[in-house]
Amino acid sequence: MTMAAVPVKLRCTCGHDGAWLVMPGQSWICPACARTWVPDAASVHAVAEGARDLARLRRLVLGLAVGALTVAAVLVAIHPAWILGVPTLVGGVLLASRPTYRKRREQALASTRTSIPLTESRAV
Ligand SMILES: [Zn+2]
Repeated sequence: MTMAAVPVKLRCTCGHDGAWLVMPGQSWICPACARTWVPDAASVHAVAEGARDLARLRRLVLGLAVGALTVAAVLVAIHPAWILGVPTLVGGVLLASRPTYRKRREQALASTRTSIPLTESRAV
């Protein structure tokens, strides 16, 4: 699996602000002073991993919602009175899955906030 580029904002020691799509192993050359900056590969990896987890969680939630709606629609089609049980069912699933979802989401968010140390590269 190829790693996605990570968008970061950075500030050069000359004071120039830049936005940058970081790929591991790629360096950034400041357009103002031409210093070359190399990102810490492990941090870039952590941020990319967090972004991927967030996307995965969003897909999971969407899939669960579609699945729950489908099941509810089928149940109600079979037996209209079961519509009374649908809110209980959906509420129960939500309550049961919320702590796990929150924890995973927070972990992923924390990863995306990992700061990426830059080292100046003098090799040209
Ligand atoms: Zn600069």
